[in-house]
Amino acid sequence: SLSDRLTGTFANLRGKGRLSESDVNKTIRDIRMALIDADVALPVVKEFTSAVRERATGAEVSGALNPAQQVIKIVNEELVGILGGNTRELTLAKRPPTVIMLAGLQGSGKTTFAGKLGARLKEQGHTPILVAADLQRPNAVTQLEVVAERAGVSVFAPERGNIGGHDAGAAGEGTRSFGDPVSVAREGIAHAQSRQHDVVIVDTAGRLAVDADLMQQAADIRTAISPDEVLFVIDAMIGQAAVETAQAFQQGVGFTGVVLSKLDGDARGGAALSVARTTGRPIMFASTGEGVRDLEVFHPDRMASRILDMGDVLTLIEQAERAFDAGQAEEMQRKFLAAEDFTFDDFLQQMAALKKMGSLKSMLKMMPGMGQMAAQLDNLDEREFDRVEAMVRSMTPFERNHPKQINGSRRARIARGSGVQVSEVNQLLERFGEAQKMMKQLARGGGMPGMPGLPG
Ligand code: GDP
Ligand code: MG
Repeated sequence: SLSDRLTGTFANLRGKGRLSESDVNKTIRDIRMALIDADVALPVVKEFTSAVRERATGAEVSGALNPAQQVIKIVNEELVGILGGNTRELTLAKRPPTVIMLAGLQGSGKTTFAGKLGARLKEQGHTPILVAADLQRPNAVTQLEVVAERAGVSVFAPERGNIGGHDAGAAGEGTRSFGDPVSVAREGIAHAQSRQHDVVIVDTAGRLAVDADLMQQAADIRTAISPDEVLFVIDAMIGQAAVETAQAFQQGVGFTGVVLSKLDGDARGGAALSVARTTGRPIMFASTGEGVRDLEVFHPDRMASRILDMGDVLTLIEQAERAFDAGQAEEMQRKFLAAEDFTFDDFLQQMAALKKMGSLKSMLKMMPGMGQMAAQLDNLDEREFDRVEAMVRSMTPFERNHPKQINGSRRARIARGSGVQVSEVNQLLERFGEAQKMMKQLARGGGMPGMPGLPG
Protein backbone atom coordinates (compact mmCIF):
# COMPACT_ATOMS: atom_id res chain seq x y z
CA SER A 1 0.00 0.00 0.00
CA LEU A 2 0.91 3.62 -0.23
CA SER A 3 1.46 3.79 3.49
CA ASP A 4 3.82 0.84 3.47
CA ARG A 5 5.77 2.31 0.63
CA LEU A 6 6.11 5.65 2.35
CA THR A 7 7.24 4.19 5.64
CA GLY A 8 9.49 1.65 3.92
CA THR A 9 11.24 3.85 1.38
CA PHE A 10 12.34 6.49 3.78
CA ALA A 11 12.73 4.54 6.99
CA ASN A 12 16.47 5.10 7.15
CA LEU A 13 16.60 8.69 6.18
CA ARG A 14 16.03 10.47 9.43
CA GLY A 15 17.61 13.65 10.61
CA LYS A 16 18.83 14.89 7.26
CA GLY A 17 18.51 18.53 8.18
CA ARG A 18 16.44 19.93 5.36
CA LEU A 19 14.04 18.43 2.85
CA SER A 20 15.68 18.17 -0.55
CA GLU A 21 13.85 18.65 -3.79
CA SER A 22 14.02 14.96 -4.53
CA ASP A 23 12.64 14.01 -1.09
CA VAL A 24 9.72 16.28 -1.76
CA ASN A 25 9.16 15.18 -5.35
CA LYS A 26 9.08 11.51 -4.45
CA THR A 27 6.37 12.07 -1.90
CA ILE A 28 4.45 14.62 -3.94
CA ARG A 29 3.97 11.99 -6.66
CA ASP A 30 2.21 9.76 -4.14
CA ILE A 31 0.19 12.64 -2.74
CA ARG A 32 -0.96 13.55 -6.24
CA MET A 33 -2.22 10.00 -6.75
CA ALA A 34 -4.04 10.07 -3.44
CA LEU A 35 -5.76 13.34 -4.33
CA ILE A 36 -6.77 12.11 -7.78
CA ASP A 37 -8.11 8.90 -6.22
CA ALA A 38 -10.16 11.06 -3.87
CA ASP A 39 -11.66 12.80 -6.91
CA VAL A 40 -10.16 16.19 -6.22
CA ALA A 41 -10.55 18.25 -9.41
CA LEU A 42 -7.38 18.17 -11.52
CA PRO A 43 -6.66 21.92 -11.57
CA VAL A 44 -6.98 21.92 -7.78
CA VAL A 45 -4.62 18.95 -7.49
CA LYS A 46 -2.08 20.79 -9.58
CA GLU A 47 -2.31 24.03 -7.73
CA PHE A 48 -2.31 22.35 -4.36
CA THR A 49 0.70 20.13 -4.96
CA SER A 50 2.77 22.98 -6.30
CA ALA A 51 1.94 25.07 -3.24
CA VAL A 52 3.00 22.18 -1.03
CA ARG A 53 6.17 21.61 -3.02
CA GLU A 54 7.12 25.21 -2.53
CA ARG A 55 6.52 25.12 1.18
CA ALA A 56 8.13 21.74 1.77
CA THR A 57 11.33 22.11 -0.24
CA GLY A 58 14.01 23.31 2.10
CA ALA A 59 11.79 22.89 5.15
CA GLU A 60 13.54 21.64 8.23
CA VAL A 61 13.26 17.94 9.02
CA SER A 62 12.32 17.42 12.62
CA GLY A 63 14.32 14.75 14.40
CA ALA A 64 11.16 12.73 14.87
CA LEU A 65 10.18 12.21 11.25
CA ASN A 66 11.63 10.92 8.04
CA PRO A 67 11.40 13.21 5.00
CA ALA A 68 8.32 11.51 3.54
CA GLN A 69 6.50 11.83 6.83
CA GLN A 70 7.59 15.42 7.05
CA VAL A 71 6.10 16.15 3.62
CA ILE A 72 2.87 14.36 4.48
CA LYS A 73 2.65 16.34 7.66
CA ILE A 74 2.91 19.54 5.65
CA VAL A 75 0.33 18.26 3.13
CA ASN A 76 -2.05 17.46 5.94
CA GLU A 77 -1.60 20.86 7.53
CA GLU A 78 -2.25 22.56 4.21
CA LEU A 79 -5.35 20.46 3.63
CA VAL A 80 -6.74 21.19 7.06
CA GLY A 81 -5.93 24.84 6.48
CA ILE A 82 -7.88 25.03 3.24
CA LEU A 83 -10.79 22.93 4.50
CA GLY A 84 -10.92 24.84 7.75
CA GLY A 85 -10.44 28.32 6.32
CA ASN A 86 -13.09 30.70 7.59
CA THR A 87 -14.78 27.91 9.55
CA ARG A 88 -17.72 29.36 11.36
CA GLU A 89 -21.18 28.82 12.75
CA LEU A 90 -24.43 29.88 11.15
CA THR A 91 -24.91 33.61 11.29
CA LEU A 92 -28.13 34.39 13.11
CA ALA A 93 -29.88 37.66 12.35
CA LYS A 94 -29.85 40.29 15.08
CA ARG A 95 -33.53 40.79 14.44
CA PRO A 96 -35.31 37.48 13.78
CA PRO A 97 -36.21 35.73 11.70
CA THR A 98 -32.87 34.50 10.42
CA VAL A 99 -33.38 33.56 6.78
CA ILE A 100 -31.39 30.65 5.38
CA MET A 101 -31.71 29.87 1.69
CA LEU A 102 -30.61 26.58 0.15
CA ALA A 103 -29.22 26.29 -3.36
CA GLY A 104 -27.76 23.45 -5.39
CA LEU A 105 -28.36 20.96 -8.16
CA GLN A 106 -31.39 18.69 -8.15
CA GLY A 107 -30.71 15.62 -6.08
CA SER A 108 -27.86 17.25 -4.20
CA GLY A 109 -29.74 16.85 -0.92
CA LYS A 110 -31.25 20.30 -0.28
CA THR A 111 -34.68 19.14 0.84
CA THR A 112 -33.22 16.42 3.02
CA PHE A 113 -30.81 18.93 4.54
CA ALA A 114 -33.63 21.41 5.19
CA GLY A 115 -35.21 18.83 7.49
CA LYS A 116 -31.93 18.00 9.19
CA LEU A 117 -31.09 21.63 9.83
CA GLY A 118 -34.63 22.26 11.08
CA ALA A 119 -34.37 19.38 13.53
CA ARG A 120 -30.97 20.54 14.72
CA LEU A 121 -32.09 24.13 15.25
CA LYS A 122 -35.20 22.96 17.06
CA GLU A 123 -33.03 20.91 19.41
CA GLN A 124 -31.05 24.06 20.10
CA GLY A 125 -34.19 25.83 21.18
CA HIS A 126 -35.09 27.61 17.96
CA THR A 127 -38.50 27.60 16.29
CA PRO A 128 -37.61 27.00 12.64
CA ILE A 129 -40.01 26.80 9.73
CA LEU A 130 -39.31 25.31 6.29
CA VAL A 131 -40.53 27.14 3.21
CA ALA A 132 -41.26 25.21 0.02
CA ALA A 133 -39.99 27.40 -2.80
CA ASP A 134 -39.22 24.47 -5.08
CA LEU A 135 -42.21 24.42 -7.35
CA GLN A 136 -40.61 22.63 -10.29
CA ARG A 137 -42.34 19.39 -9.43
CA PRO A 138 -45.55 19.08 -7.41
CA ASN A 139 -44.11 16.32 -5.29
CA ALA A 140 -41.20 18.51 -4.22
CA VAL A 141 -43.62 20.33 -1.91
CA THR A 142 -45.00 17.06 -0.58
CA GLN A 143 -41.45 15.85 0.01
CA LEU A 144 -40.65 18.92 2.08
CA GLU A 145 -43.83 18.44 4.10
CA VAL A 146 -42.84 14.85 4.86
CA VAL A 147 -39.34 15.95 5.80
CA ALA A 148 -40.70 18.71 8.06
CA GLU A 149 -42.97 16.27 9.82
CA ARG A 150 -40.09 13.87 10.43
CA ALA A 151 -38.04 16.74 11.80
CA GLY A 152 -40.94 17.91 13.95
CA VAL A 153 -40.88 21.43 12.51
CA SER A 154 -43.42 23.65 10.74
CA VAL A 155 -43.63 24.09 7.02
CA PHE A 156 -45.00 26.80 4.74
CA ALA A 157 -46.20 25.53 1.38
CA PRO A 158 -48.28 27.00 -1.41
CA GLU A 159 -51.67 25.58 -2.25
CA ARG A 160 -51.32 22.60 -4.54
CA GLY A 161 -53.79 23.72 -7.18
CA ASN A 162 -51.48 26.46 -8.28
CA ILE A 163 -48.37 24.43 -8.82
CA GLY A 164 -47.12 23.20 -12.12
CA GLY A 165 -46.66 24.56 -15.56
CA HIS A 166 -44.68 27.48 -14.25
CA ASP A 167 -41.61 28.64 -15.92
CA ALA A 168 -38.50 28.80 -13.82
CA GLY A 169 -38.05 32.40 -14.81
CA ALA A 170 -41.63 33.43 -14.16
CA ALA A 171 -40.74 35.57 -11.17
CA GLY A 172 -41.55 39.24 -11.08
CA GLU A 173 -44.54 39.21 -13.41
CA GLY A 174 -46.72 40.93 -10.87
CA THR A 175 -48.87 37.89 -10.16
CA ARG A 176 -49.22 36.76 -6.55
CA SER A 177 -49.79 33.23 -7.61
CA PHE A 178 -48.64 30.56 -5.20
CA GLY A 179 -46.97 29.00 -8.17
CA ASP A 180 -44.29 31.64 -8.24
CA PRO A 181 -41.31 30.58 -6.13
CA VAL A 182 -40.21 34.16 -5.43
CA SER A 183 -43.63 35.05 -4.06
CA VAL A 184 -43.82 31.86 -2.04
CA ALA A 185 -40.44 32.60 -0.51
CA ARG A 186 -41.54 36.14 0.40
CA GLU A 187 -44.84 35.01 1.80
CA GLY A 188 -43.15 32.24 3.72
CA ILE A 189 -40.98 34.79 5.48
CA ALA A 190 -43.93 37.07 6.23
CA HIS A 191 -45.78 34.05 7.58
CA ALA A 192 -42.78 33.09 9.75
CA GLN A 193 -42.61 36.61 11.13
CA SER A 194 -46.26 36.63 12.08
CA ARG A 195 -45.97 33.24 13.77
CA GLN A 196 -42.79 34.08 15.71
CA HIS A 197 -40.58 31.58 13.94
CA ASP A 198 -37.01 32.72 14.54
CA VAL A 199 -35.40 30.84 11.64
CA VAL A 200 -36.73 30.36 8.11
CA ILE A 201 -35.18 27.73 5.87
CA VAL A 202 -36.05 28.29 2.24
CA ASP A 203 -35.83 25.19 0.03
CA THR A 204 -35.36 25.95 -3.67
CA ALA A 205 -35.48 24.06 -6.95
CA GLY A 206 -32.52 22.55 -8.71
CA ARG A 207 -31.96 20.91 -12.05
CA LEU A 208 -29.77 18.02 -12.92
CA ALA A 209 -27.21 20.24 -14.57
CA VAL A 210 -26.44 23.87 -14.17
CA ASP A 211 -28.77 25.95 -16.33
CA ALA A 212 -29.41 29.63 -16.77
CA ASP A 213 -33.12 29.58 -15.83
CA LEU A 214 -32.42 27.77 -12.62
CA MET A 215 -29.70 30.24 -11.70
CA GLN A 216 -31.94 33.17 -12.49
CA GLN A 217 -34.74 31.80 -10.33
CA ALA A 218 -32.41 31.23 -7.39
CA ALA A 219 -30.84 34.65 -7.88
CA ASP A 220 -34.30 36.25 -7.95
CA ILE A 221 -35.26 34.51 -4.72
CA ARG A 222 -32.06 35.70 -3.13
CA THR A 223 -32.68 39.27 -4.20
CA ALA A 224 -36.27 39.16 -3.00
CA ILE A 225 -35.62 37.80 0.48
CA SER A 226 -32.00 38.89 1.15
CA PRO A 227 -31.17 35.86 3.27
CA ASP A 228 -28.65 35.93 6.13
CA GLU A 229 -27.11 32.76 4.75
CA VAL A 230 -27.18 31.10 1.36
CA LEU A 231 -25.99 27.54 1.75
CA PHE A 232 -24.79 25.73 -1.33
CA VAL A 233 -25.52 22.01 -1.01
CA ILE A 234 -23.23 19.75 -3.01
CA ASP A 235 -23.16 15.99 -3.34
CA ALA A 236 -19.78 14.62 -2.25
CA MET A 237 -19.99 12.08 -5.09
CA ILE A 238 -19.99 14.80 -7.75
CA GLY A 239 -16.31 14.26 -8.43
CA GLN A 240 -14.55 16.27 -11.10
CA ALA A 241 -17.65 18.40 -11.78
CA ALA A 242 -17.39 20.00 -8.35
CA VAL A 243 -15.37 23.00 -9.48
CA GLU A 244 -17.57 23.87 -12.44
CA THR A 245 -20.78 23.48 -10.43
CA ALA A 246 -19.54 25.45 -7.45
CA GLN A 247 -18.27 28.25 -9.65
CA ALA A 248 -21.56 28.41 -11.55
CA PHE A 249 -23.50 28.77 -8.32
CA GLN A 250 -21.04 31.25 -6.90
CA GLN A 251 -21.38 33.46 -9.94
CA GLY A 252 -25.07 32.85 -10.59
CA VAL A 253 -26.51 33.02 -7.08
CA GLY A 254 -23.64 33.50 -4.68
CA PHE A 255 -23.41 31.62 -1.40
CA THR A 256 -22.07 32.17 2.08
CA GLY A 257 -21.38 28.59 3.09
CA VAL A 258 -21.24 25.02 1.83
CA VAL A 259 -22.99 21.82 2.86
CA LEU A 260 -21.37 18.60 1.72
CA SER A 261 -23.95 15.82 1.38
CA LYS A 262 -23.87 12.04 1.03
CA LEU A 263 -20.65 11.68 2.94
CA ASP A 264 -21.97 8.35 4.19
CA GLY A 265 -21.19 6.94 0.72
CA ASP A 266 -17.89 5.87 -0.79
CA ALA A 267 -16.83 9.33 -1.83
CA ARG A 268 -13.41 10.17 -0.48
CA GLY A 269 -14.44 13.79 -0.28
CA GLY A 270 -12.27 15.37 -2.93
CA ALA A 271 -15.19 17.68 -3.70
CA ALA A 272 -14.63 19.31 -0.33
CA LEU A 273 -11.15 20.40 -1.31
CA SER A 274 -12.22 21.41 -4.81
CA VAL A 275 -15.05 23.61 -3.55
CA ALA A 276 -13.18 25.11 -0.62
CA ARG A 277 -10.18 25.93 -2.77
CA THR A 278 -12.05 27.42 -5.71
CA THR A 279 -14.75 29.35 -3.85
CA GLY A 280 -13.04 30.17 -0.57
CA ARG A 281 -16.35 29.61 1.20
CA PRO A 282 -16.45 27.68 4.47
CA ILE A 283 -17.82 24.15 4.50
CA MET A 284 -20.19 24.23 7.42
CA PHE A 285 -22.04 20.92 7.53
CA ALA A 286 -21.59 17.34 6.47
CA SER A 287 -24.70 15.37 5.59
CA THR A 288 -24.21 11.70 6.28
CA GLY A 289 -27.41 9.83 5.47
CA GLU A 290 -31.06 9.98 4.56
CA GLY A 291 -32.26 10.23 8.16
CA VAL A 292 -33.18 13.48 9.81
CA ARG A 293 -30.35 13.12 12.38
CA ASP A 294 -27.61 12.35 9.89
CA LEU A 295 -25.97 15.74 10.07
CA GLU A 296 -22.61 16.75 11.45
CA VAL A 297 -20.70 19.95 11.82
CA PHE A 298 -17.91 19.75 9.27
CA HIS A 299 -14.53 18.63 10.66
CA PRO A 300 -11.61 19.80 8.51
CA ASP A 301 -9.12 17.40 10.09
CA ARG A 302 -11.28 14.34 9.56
CA MET A 303 -11.94 15.37 5.98
CA ALA A 304 -8.23 15.94 5.34
CA SER A 305 -7.36 12.42 6.44
CA ARG A 306 -10.28 11.00 4.44
CA ILE A 307 -9.01 12.74 1.32
CA LEU A 308 -5.42 11.70 1.89
CA ASP A 309 -6.52 8.23 2.91
CA MET A 310 -3.44 8.04 5.06
CA GLY A 311 -5.03 7.78 8.45
CA ASP A 312 -2.46 5.20 9.50
CA VAL A 313 0.46 7.30 8.28
CA LEU A 314 -0.89 10.35 10.07
CA THR A 315 -1.27 8.33 13.26
CA LEU A 316 2.28 7.11 12.84
CA ILE A 317 3.53 10.65 12.44
CA GLU A 318 1.74 11.71 15.58
CA GLN A 319 3.15 8.75 17.50
CA ALA A 320 6.66 9.39 16.22
CA GLU A 321 6.50 13.00 17.31
CA ARG A 322 5.15 12.08 20.70
CA ALA A 323 7.81 9.41 21.21
CA PHE A 324 10.45 11.91 20.21
CA ASP A 325 9.20 14.42 22.75
CA ALA A 326 9.09 11.76 25.42
CA GLY A 327 12.67 10.75 24.52
CA GLN A 328 13.85 14.30 25.05
CA ALA A 329 12.01 14.49 28.34
CA GLU A 330 13.73 11.29 29.50
CA GLU A 331 17.09 12.70 28.54
CA MET A 332 16.36 15.79 30.61
CA GLN A 333 15.30 13.71 33.54
CA ARG A 334 18.47 11.63 33.31
CA LYS A 335 20.51 14.81 33.40
CA PHE A 336 18.59 16.09 36.37
CA LEU A 337 19.06 12.90 38.31
CA ALA A 338 22.71 12.54 37.39
CA ALA A 339 23.55 15.94 38.85
CA GLU A 340 25.33 14.88 42.02
CA ASP A 341 25.08 18.27 43.51
CA PHE A 342 22.91 20.61 41.57
CA THR A 343 24.73 23.92 41.06
CA PHE A 344 23.79 27.25 39.53
CA ASP A 345 25.94 26.34 36.55
CA ASP A 346 23.81 23.26 35.98
CA PHE A 347 20.83 25.46 36.52
CA LEU A 348 21.92 27.84 33.78
CA GLN A 349 22.57 24.94 31.43
CA GLN A 350 19.19 23.40 32.14
CA MET A 351 17.53 26.71 31.63
CA ALA A 352 19.22 27.24 28.27
CA ALA A 353 18.28 23.72 27.18
CA LEU A 354 14.72 24.10 28.30
CA LYS A 355 14.38 27.46 26.63
CA LYS A 356 15.66 26.00 23.42
CA MET A 357 13.13 23.22 23.57
CA GLY A 358 10.28 25.61 23.93
CA SER A 359 7.97 25.03 26.78
CA LEU A 360 9.52 24.53 30.16
CA LYS A 361 6.22 23.80 31.75
CA SER A 362 5.14 21.08 29.39
CA MET A 363 8.55 19.42 29.62
CA LEU A 364 8.42 19.39 33.40
CA LYS A 365 4.90 18.05 33.37
CA MET A 366 6.11 15.06 31.39
CA MET A 367 8.76 14.19 33.93
CA PRO A 368 7.78 11.92 36.75
CA GLY A 369 7.82 13.80 40.01
CA MET A 370 8.03 17.22 38.41
CA GLY A 371 4.35 18.04 38.31
CA GLN A 372 4.60 20.16 41.45
CA MET A 373 7.43 22.17 40.04
CA ALA A 374 5.57 22.67 36.78
CA ALA A 375 2.60 23.91 38.74
CA GLN A 376 4.81 26.41 40.52
CA LEU A 377 6.14 27.53 37.19
CA ASP A 378 2.65 28.41 36.08
CA ASN A 379 3.06 31.56 38.13
CA LEU A 380 6.41 32.33 36.59
CA ASP A 381 6.43 34.45 33.52
CA GLU A 382 9.15 34.87 30.96
CA ARG A 383 10.37 38.18 32.36
CA GLU A 384 10.89 36.64 35.74
CA PHE A 385 12.85 33.96 33.94
CA ASP A 386 15.12 36.61 32.51
CA ARG A 387 15.65 38.19 35.93
CA VAL A 388 16.68 34.84 37.36
CA GLU A 389 19.11 34.36 34.53
CA ALA A 390 20.54 37.84 35.10
CA MET A 391 21.10 37.08 38.78
CA VAL A 392 22.85 33.78 38.05
CA ARG A 393 25.02 35.50 35.46
CA SER A 394 26.07 38.05 38.08
CA MET A 395 27.44 35.25 40.26
CA THR A 396 31.10 34.29 40.15
CA PRO A 397 31.97 30.72 39.16
CA PHE A 398 32.75 30.02 42.80
CA GLU A 399 29.36 31.28 43.88
CA ARG A 400 27.57 29.26 41.25
CA ASN A 401 29.18 26.07 42.49
CA HIS A 402 28.88 26.90 46.17
CA PRO A 403 25.51 28.55 46.62
CA LYS A 404 25.65 28.09 50.38
CA GLN A 405 28.69 30.37 50.55
CA ILE A 406 26.80 33.34 49.13
CA ASN A 407 26.76 35.66 52.13
CA GLY A 408 25.24 39.09 52.63
CA SER A 409 27.86 41.17 50.84
CA ARG A 410 27.92 38.74 47.91
CA ARG A 411 24.12 38.94 47.71
CA ALA A 412 24.25 42.74 47.62
CA ARG A 413 26.82 42.62 44.82
CA ILE A 414 24.76 40.14 42.79
CA ALA A 415 21.69 42.32 43.23
CA ARG A 416 23.55 45.41 42.03
CA GLY A 417 25.05 43.52 39.10
CA SER A 418 21.72 42.22 37.87
CA GLY A 419 19.63 45.27 38.71
CA VAL A 420 17.32 43.58 41.20
CA GLN A 421 16.53 43.97 44.90
CA VAL A 422 18.55 42.00 47.45
CA SER A 423 15.29 40.42 48.57
CA GLU A 424 14.94 38.87 45.13
CA VAL A 425 18.40 37.33 45.38
CA ASN A 426 17.45 35.99 48.80
CA GLN A 427 14.32 34.50 47.38
CA LEU A 428 16.17 32.87 44.51
CA LEU A 429 18.73 31.31 46.87
CA GLU A 430 15.99 30.04 49.11
CA ARG A 431 14.11 28.49 46.24
CA PHE A 432 17.28 27.08 44.79
CA GLY A 433 18.11 25.42 48.11
CA GLU A 434 14.74 23.73 48.09
CA ALA A 435 15.12 22.59 44.52
CA GLN A 436 18.55 21.20 45.33
CA LYS A 437 17.12 19.15 48.15
CA MET A 438 14.40 17.88 45.89
CA MET A 439 16.91 16.85 43.23
CA LYS A 440 18.93 14.85 45.73
CA GLN A 441 15.85 13.15 47.06
CA LEU A 442 14.73 12.32 43.55
CA ALA A 443 18.17 11.01 42.60
CA ARG A 444 18.21 8.76 45.63
CA GLY A 445 14.67 7.43 45.68
CA GLY A 446 13.30 8.17 42.24
CA GLY A 447 10.27 9.79 43.73
CA MET A 448 8.98 11.61 46.71
CA PRO A 449 6.90 9.35 48.92
CA GLY A 450 4.52 11.16 51.17
CA MET A 451 4.03 14.12 48.94
CA PRO A 452 0.53 14.26 47.59
CA GLY A 453 0.09 14.28 43.86
CA LEU A 454 3.51 12.87 43.08
CA PRO A 455 4.24 9.33 41.91
CA GLY A 456 6.22 7.43 44.55
P1 GDP B 1 -32.69 17.96 -3.57
O1 GDP B 1 -33.18 17.67 -4.94
O2 GDP B 1 -31.45 18.79 -3.59
O3 GDP B 1 -33.73 18.54 -2.69
O4 GDP B 1 -32.23 16.57 -2.94
P2 GDP B 1 -33.02 15.63 -1.95
O5 GDP B 1 -32.97 16.17 -0.58
O6 GDP B 1 -34.36 15.33 -2.49
O7 GDP B 1 -32.11 14.33 -2.00
C1 GDP B 1 -31.97 13.55 -3.16
C2 GDP B 1 -31.75 12.11 -2.75
O8 GDP B 1 -30.56 11.97 -2.02
C3 GDP B 1 -32.85 11.58 -1.85
O9 GDP B 1 -33.12 10.24 -2.20
C4 GDP B 1 -32.25 11.65 -0.46
O10 GDP B 1 -32.79 10.69 0.39
C5 GDP B 1 -30.80 11.39 -0.75
N1 GDP B 1 -29.91 12.05 0.20
C6 GDP B 1 -29.87 13.33 0.57
N2 GDP B 1 -28.86 13.57 1.46
C7 GDP B 1 -28.26 12.38 1.65
C8 GDP B 1 -27.14 11.96 2.44
O11 GDP B 1 -26.47 12.72 3.14
N3 GDP B 1 -26.80 10.64 2.36
C9 GDP B 1 -27.49 9.76 1.58
N4 GDP B 1 -27.09 8.50 1.57
N5 GDP B 1 -28.54 10.13 0.84
C10 GDP B 1 -28.93 11.42 0.85
MG1 MG C 1 -35.57 19.22 -3.19
